Amino acid sequence: MDSLIADTESSLRLGVFLSFFVVLALLELVIPRRKLRYSKLQRWASNIGLSIFNTVFLRLVIPIAGVGTALLASDKGWGLLNHVELPLWLSTIVFLLIFDVTIYWQHRIYHRVPVLWRFHRMHHTDMDYDFTTGSRFHPVSILISTLIKVGLILLMGPPAIAVVLAEVILNATSMFNHSNIKLPDWLDQRLRKVIVTPDMHRIHHSVERSEHDRNFGFNLSCWDRIFSSYLDRAEKDQTEMDIGIRGFQDKKSLNMFTLLFQPFDNPSKPVLDKKG
Ligand SMILES: [Zn+2]
Ligand SMILES: [Zn+2]
Repeated sequence: MDSLIADTESSLRLGVFLSFFVVLALLELVIPRRKLRYSKLQRWASNIGLSIFNTVFLRLVIPIAGVGTALLASDKGWGLLNHVELPLWLSTIVFLLIFDVTIYWQHRIYHRVPVLWRFHRMHHTDMDYDFTTGSRFHPVSILISTLIKVGLILLMGPPAIAVVLAEVILNATSMFNHSNIKLPDWLDQRLRKVIVTPDMHRIHHSVERSEHDRNFGFNLSCWDRIFSSYLDRAEKDQTEMDIGIRGFQDKKSLNMFTLLFQPFDNPSKPVLDKKG
């Protein structure tokens, strides 16, 4: 049973990733939001290369993360949800909500604490914005996020299926809200009442600190509204907004190998932001 859930998770994650990859890549060609400035080939090689590197790195460092931890917690009777009688659907929803708000606060803390910001900053130094930006994370930030996730699973004791869903939904929404697609305004505004849209998260990638310290949500948009970090629109239009981080707007931000060391670099130009 355990290996069945683990196998299902791997195939489901891969299936959803590939489906979103194809659909979003096509939509970005048909209805692009912004004109890309840099070679897609080079950015995609770095962003997807990092995603593959992170997957292998995590398997080696924390082999039982995610579903494995949920199965262990259930076996040992650890965690809140293993001590209350709730139907499966309800404990799944409770976990998905708590998981999402945890991701929101983790993201805010990454922006607030200087040493964590250095590792998270690499996600922001992508100078263009498309669905591959959603898989551009430094391995150290991925490792810290995974440890937080493992801690949450041990505390909550969610059903394994809830953890599978949380992971799959997070991967899919991250690809979607980083995509370079133009949704009609009416659709964007309606979707935004519930989920984070590409236009909403793109503001989070603006070079302006007053804008990139907003819209931290990855999935549900309510957390930014509840915790007062929601910004409806940037000062410049979505097509004019400068994306990236000042001082990291050179070719080094396009190379996967130099990116791994970027947290130890200081901005190359005078910094207007005081962070990092
Ligand atoms: Zn961020
Ligand atoms: Zn992002």
